[in-house]
Amino acid sequence: MNLAKTVLIVDDIYINRRVLVKSLQNAGYDVLEAENGKQAIELLKNYDVFCVLLDIEMPVMNGIETLHYIRSQMPKPKSEVKVFAITAYNNSTIHDYLDFSDFDGMITKPFSIQQIEKLLSQT
Ligand SMILES: [Mg+2]
Repeated sequence: MNLAKTVLIVDDIYINRRVLVKSLQNAGYDVLEAENGKQAIELLKNYDVFCVLLDIEMPVMNGIETLHYIRSQMPKPKSEVKVFAITAYNNSTIHDYLDFSDFDGMITKPFSIQQIEKLLSQT
């Protein structure tokens, strides 16, 4: 595995993960996947990843809690990994009650692979 180009995909919906896994593999990335934040943190502890695509609404540990853990509890440089939120919310009201300021960017569902590739290429 080329760890410099490994993307961690975190989403509780299987089909969402499949779409992202296939698209990113086709674009040449290696992929790790988790279905909640708890699994994602375990993977982050054990692997070096290039960036994280993190769903917001998930059981067990949601995206906001997961990001908070990464930024506040993990040692550097893992605490500084690029994290992009995957969210179905496409209007600004979500910003009124959720803090996205620690995310490095956002992918809005339904996403396109072009949108994701553009984001990753800027990383
Ligand atoms: Mg979800």
